[in-house]
Amino acid sequence: MSVADGFRELYGAAPEGVWAAPGRVNLIGEYTDFNDGFVMPLALPHTAVAAVSRRDDGRLRVHSADVDQGVVQLDVDALRPLSDTGWAAYPAGVVWALREAGHAVTGADIHLSSTVPTGAGLSSSAALEVVTALALNDLYALGLSGRELAVLAQRAENAFVGVPCGVMDQMASACCADGNALYLDTRDLSLRQVPFDLAARGLRLLVVDTRVKHALGDGAYAERRAGCEAGARALGVRTLREVEYAQLSEALGRLSDETVRSYVRHVVTDNHRVERTIALLDAGDVRAVGAVLTEGHASLRDDLRVSCPELDLVVRAANDAGALGARMTGGGFGGSAIVLTEAAEADTVTKAVEAAFAEAGHMAPRVFPAVPSAGARRLY
Ligand code: ADP
Ligand code: MG
Repeated sequence: MSVADGFRELYGAAPEGVWAAPGRVNLIGEYTDFNDGFVMPLALPHTAVAAVSRRDDGRLRVHSADVDQGVVQLDVDALRPLSDTGWAAYPAGVVWALREAGHAVTGADIHLSSTVPTGAGLSSSAALEVVTALALNDLYALGLSGRELAVLAQRAENAFVGVPCGVMDQMASACCADGNALYLDTRDLSLRQVPFDLAARGLRLLVVDTRVKHALGDGAYAERRAGCEAGARALGVRTLREVEYAQLSEALGRLSDETVRSYVRHVVTDNHRVERTIALLDAGDVRAVGAVLTEGHASLRDDLRVSCPELDLVVRAANDAGALGARMTGGGFGGSAIVLTEAAEADTVTKAVEAAFAEAGHMAPRVFPAVPSAGARRLY
């Protein structure tokens, strides 16, 4: 059933419109967005699709075709951060953030369905937030830009849902463009669309969803964040973004804590890897990006220590089978990896990863191509 039909069945009238917002994979620049650094995500063809109508009576009704929970009924005046409304906290948090910012959102009926795998590090949560934000922006004629909607969606996730994420996921979902990667400076949210036409070059970027999510992920994220902040304080800078790559060894020499030192090394080198990737893409040398990805993985594994055996195995098996490079992507401790490969080798590489997983006794991974796709948009 289409999302519009689902809406009609639930709420007894056609929706005023239907919107879509994608999940994303991050090509390079990991754990850099909360350090004011650089990231380079691209939108996936997988989207959250929402059918939405306004209400003027303060009621907010949300329903997901993918969750067996019925319609969640809320009152926009009574929305409180960190009040547990389960999955509905994501769209409700967006309504809360819009109202907090002074926008007169007087209620909504929302029915949504998503093809973004959840909990796979592909930002199903940001897709949900951004599709809600864009729909309300259009319906209530708020006139907010994609960038402004992304920041409000991040605020919803941080303050209302209670997840301390950076702004990359929401910016990617809101601002990516078809056929491009998004070069984003998270300090001022300036961005550039970078043409990333893999097919024309005989290349493919594979997403390998390991389908595991290790429990230590949430605490580890907060710990890495705190460690990065400690590093910035020790170096007398506002954020690690201020540490130039050329000053890295001098900066590391001033840090006494071994853990903090390795976090700083990751952030500074990964920012540099984003800049190297941009230079390579601008020069048309897309194949050389592979080695940068693999280097980034080693940094996430050894310096930041956010990888896990399954992610390491994807990278090792893919590279052994002739891939151009690979790395974990997203928060780590499970979730997904990306693999850059010659298109002609994609099947060989995929089979090698699957065989390595079978041999190690891991669950079969889910592998699909990352086709750089459009950001959030109105469908009708
Ligand atoms: P990720 O963003 O990496 O997929 P998160 O843990 O940040 O993982 O977000 C996943 C959560 O988002 C789910 O647990 C659920 O609450 C919510 N979510 C995602 N997609 C849907 C959906 N289609 N319907 C309802 N809730 C969803
Ligand atoms: Mg998320």
